[in-house]
Amino acid sequence: MAKFEKRDVKAEIAPSQKPIKVDAGMWVELERWISTEQAKKAGFHSKAQFVTEAIREKLEQFQPRINVSESNFNEFHEIYEKNKINLSKKGVNSFSGYVTYRLEEMMQKDKTFARYAPKIEKISVDDDRVILKDNMKNRIAEVVIQKEELFCRLCKENDCVHVGFLFSLPEVYEIISTKGIKYPK
Ligand SMILES: [Zn+2]
Repeated sequence: MAKFEKRDVKAEIAPSQKPIKVDAGMWVELERWISTEQAKKAGFHSKAQFVTEAIREKLEQFQPRINVSESNFNEFHEIYEKNKINLSKKGVNSFSGYVTYRLEEMMQKDKTFARYAPKIEKISVDDDRVILKDNMKNRIAEVVIQKEELFCRLCKENDCVHVGFLFSLPEVYEIISTKGIKYPK
């Protein structure tokens, strides 16, 4: 039995890593293969990375499955590949993780929308502000889209119902997520 080299592990997925023991023969075989051109071409550069991906792939086999059309799948996969680096910063490290993340996001939006509509209505959407009509207060609410946050001029707050409602509007969501604004907790 042999342990993976500690420096490999650290380089791969710092800071929270745990060692795993594998059969020595397999370790030697992996060590040999990982230095080949084929491994490099396939995007593998360390044993730890290879094993991490192998484990992930195996675990995904046991996840519940759903069927989607090939074009939807490809389109989604393309978006995932393009945003891989940013997504990993948010803790999304695989394609199925990305799909789960988007589904959760969508459910959150639907819930928000169901909670507020028709009490709040969208009047207009610009790149830097959204005008809403609050039917409970019978007032117009202007929410300004600033660099890193949203601000409601009616409530003079950044986490009121109007700000929350913005996250349920797909066209607004696109604008605010590209600006890196997050859903208020
Ligand atoms: Zn407000």
